[in-house]
Amino acid sequence: MSASRAVPEAQDGYDTLHVGRRFLERARHHQRAGHGLRFYHDKLIGAAMADPTFKVQLFRFIDCFPTLSTPQDVYAHLAEYLDQPGVRLPRGLEVGLRAGRLAPGAMAAAVSAEVRAMAGQFIAGADARAALDVLRRGWDHGRAFSVDLLGEVCVSDAEADAYLARYLATLDDLADATAAWPARPLLEADALGPVPRVNLSLKLSALSARLRPADPEASLADLRPRLALLAARAEERGAALNLDMETAALQEIVLAAALELCASSRAPIGVALQAYRTSGRDDARSLARWARESGHRLGVRLVKGAYWDYETTLAEMNGWPSPLWPTKPETDACFEDMARLLLEAWPRRPGDGGIRLAVGSHNVRSVCAALAAAEELGVPTGAVELQMLHGMADPLKAAAADLGLRLREYVPLGELVPGMAYLVRRLLENTSNESWLRADLVDHAGEDHLLADPRGLIVPAAPADPAARHALSPAVAGLGDGRPFTNEPPRDFSRAEVRAAFAAAVARTPRPPQPPAGDVAAALATAAASSWGETPALERAALLVRAAALLRERRDALSALVIVEAGKTWAEADADVCEAIDFCEYYARCAAALFEPRRLGRFTGELDTTWYEPRGVAAVIAPWNFPAAIACGMTTAALVCGNATILKPAGQTTGIAAALVDALHHAGVPRDALQLLPGPGATVGAELVRDPRVAIIAFTGSRKVGFDILAAAGAMTEGQAGIKKTILELGGKNAIVVDSSADLDEAVLGVRASAFGYQGQKCSACSRVIVVDHGAGLWETFLRRLGEATAALSIGDARDPGTMLGPVIDAAAKKKIEGYIARGRDEARLLYAGEVPDGLEARTGRDYVAPHIFADVPRDSVLWREEIFGPVLACRRAASFAEALAEADECAYRLTGGVYSRTPSHLEQARRKFRVGNLYLNRAITGALVGRQPFGGLGHSGVGSKAGGADYLLQFCEPRSCCENTLRHGFAPEP
Ligand code: NAD
Repeated sequence: MSASRAVPEAQDGYDTLHVGRRFLERARHHQRAGHGLRFYHDKLIGAAMADPTFKVQLFRFIDCFPTLSTPQDVYAHLAEYLDQPGVRLPRGLEVGLRAGRLAPGAMAAAVSAEVRAMAGQFIAGADARAALDVLRRGWDHGRAFSVDLLGEVCVSDAEADAYLARYLATLDDLADATAAWPARPLLEADALGPVPRVNLSLKLSALSARLRPADPEASLADLRPRLALLAARAEERGAALNLDMETAALQEIVLAAALELCASSRAPIGVALQAYRTSGRDDARSLARWARESGHRLGVRLVKGAYWDYETTLAEMNGWPSPLWPTKPETDACFEDMARLLLEAWPRRPGDGGIRLAVGSHNVRSVCAALAAAEELGVPTGAVELQMLHGMADPLKAAAADLGLRLREYVPLGELVPGMAYLVRRLLENTSNESWLRADLVDHAGEDHLLADPRGLIVPAAPADPAARHALSPAVAGLGDGRPFTNEPPRDFSRAEVRAAFAAAVARTPRPPQPPAGDVAAALATAAASSWGETPALERAALLVRAAALLRERRDALSALVIVEAGKTWAEADADVCEAIDFCEYYARCAAALFEPRRLGRFTGELDTTWYEPRGVAAVIAPWNFPAAIACGMTTAALVCGNATILKPAGQTTGIAAALVDALHHAGVPRDALQLLPGPGATVGAELVRDPRVAIIAFTGSRKVGFDILAAAGAMTEGQAGIKKTILELGGKNAIVVDSSADLDEAVLGVRASAFGYQGQKCSACSRVIVVDHGAGLWETFLRRLGEATAALSIGDARDPGTMLGPVIDAAAKKKIEGYIARGRDEARLLYAGEVPDGLEARTGRDYVAPHIFADVPRDSVLWREEIFGPVLACRRAASFAEALAEADECAYRLTGGVYSRTPSHLEQARRKFRVGNLYLNRAITGALVGRQPFGGLGHSGVGSKAGGADYLLQFCEPRSCCENTLRHGFAPEP
């Protein structure tokens, strides 16, 4: 606060404070009249602000509320979310919940009315016609509008078309209705000329289900026809269009679309910019430069940004630097600077290009800083538009009207169900400890605080150390950077320079030739003679860290190899290589700690110790579907435990295996300690596992081959020194349960990603879906949306950045999958059959199978029981969650499984009763990460070990222990 007091000396600070005080004085006047306090007087909101645990539970309940179809359901969820230990309930609610046990109907009705009322405060109506009264009232109070259409996440072309139709109808309805409204000169013109009455905010993610940050060109191509129709209608109806800014990954696409529209349309075009982005100042500069140089006039709505939790979570999950400022004052300071940069680009002469600024904020300091900057720059006050959200900040809006400022409300329209996400965002924003409105209206902060210069409030944050915070592995002094393991961050393909480097690597990578089969006997002789096991454990670990560094250096080239050999898409290939690097770094740290001998107890006269030793020669047999990750994981685990290792890769992906082995050799792993043994599984693989010199077999692949290896390993042969240790990771027939309380948007996209990512050729892939439908129609809705969403997946050359589905591994796989599809047509109802684009196979020389979805699949059918390993999904309907869970669990394979549900007790049941190796709740079921989601199945899916988990290495070594009597003639050393 002291810093802000010092500011009045500075010229611009003085002006901001001056304007701010006047604004605040008017706002206070309206507050005294009681405007805008209703929200904060609400008992539930009051309780939420007083108790963060209650707030989380309440908002989670509100989030799932629209899916609850009966009063019993509403009551049960209320009780599950709120009647929990540690949640302090407001008195009325506590009494209501207790009474509700007897009369759930009354309680449910009361709560439903409350949630609807809350939503009604922020959402003006289901559509433009329903909202006309609200809009007109605003107009009469001196408020223009921009309407925004709320809705489900757009997952298909059909849904994008439906949004387009809604946008067009909204334009027409608003143009028709507002034509007869009385003139409001303040709202209808600025210093540059007329301002349309009708203003429509667009979300590009609603207008295309094919936005791919990795391929902005293809994304824009998909958007263009719908945007052109909208722009033409806006021109015709004299309306303005404003593109909302959404997530950081889409920013490049949104900006490109906005500039294209602005340059080509006669309708006024605007775009939102977000000040919470660390790139904010550069974004403002680049738009200002474009407008000046192109001679076009572009509207910019400057906001702080509404996807804080999402962006922060995404960055944390991927290990990326956050694209957002870490603190609120930094965002606020950026906002003020951006406002000034944009105002400097205000067009001063007729015919000049430039920026029309709208400031979207409920923070009086931020708004007034922009107004003061305009004044100082000699930009007329009327050039700046104020924008605030419908249902919020009424005293500020009234103050703006008093001061003769042009104000526009951002007014969402839509149904309650899709509107809920918007409602929850507003609730979070209003109750946040950092909310300016809350500070003013609830905490009654003083003027000094409310108008404080954010620059004086910035406290440099200590650099974060995620590795230490997550502590996923031991930290080993002298190993790597001495910190615990963290996952290798995937490439962020929304960044142009990242894309360019990757594309160049793909372009220069040919498909490698097949090597001749290796000599099994020679490889075994070499391995058996190796002294690798005598290398100290820390040294072995250090070689893995060095190999990780080499893989990191060669990362794009390796991913390119995965693309051309295995047919993975960009992101899938990149993830495969990241995981390979992760295995090196993770096992290195685990092994260094594991191989330290440990003393057990502190007994006088007795020294008890235990330690681990290598087992001997390791045969590693890898599949083609994670050609970098799995081959590398099994190999490095065996190596770091001191076992001389022979890697037999899958024939389809020998090139990648050779590149991995090369990196390990270059890192310093001796050639006798690690050998590549290419060749067919049926001969080379079979001979290898049967040899008596092999002490340990690490196999990942199909159940059939796995069981064959198990039997072969169990047979003791002449000269065999010990029992062969076999580590088997086998197939899956994984199910996802979609509960009636699921978030349908998430369930559809999660099932699509899990079923069709890498063409369904992941052991973790979803191949069964069970939808809980009590009769509310979820089954039909889910299947329709899933089918349409699947149709939006573009099938193409895996080398192209925009391809979502590439080829299957080879012709044999294609034939096998097609056989299952033919069986499916006989046994079940074909819901969706995709098509491979004409000429694609000939052009790329690869084999493709388009996705297929079957419904009403019988439980005893081949489709429901066998692993298909391709883009084929079988769906069934269940009458209850318990039934769905039982069906999901009824399977010989037990690898992965998933549940989409917002019913806490159902998630708990799933944890206990869905006995798979890796269970995923409310997310896709593929993409396990080393150290975070140790991976491996039970039942017919494997021996229950977990690759990428803390105890995986135990299987690659042998424990020893020793007990020494240290008592000599009655003399015992100190313990
Ligand atoms: P696959 O069983 O056909 O081949 C796996 C490896 O075994 C290959 O290197 C192959 O050459 C070799 N092989 C084949 N016959 C052999 C024999 N008789 N003796 C010794 N080796 C032999 O499997 P795939 O098609 O490469 O991979 C797909 C399978 O792998 C799927 O079933 C999938 O679910 C499974 N998989 C499981 C996991 C997991 O972690 N559980 C991970 C990836 C893949």
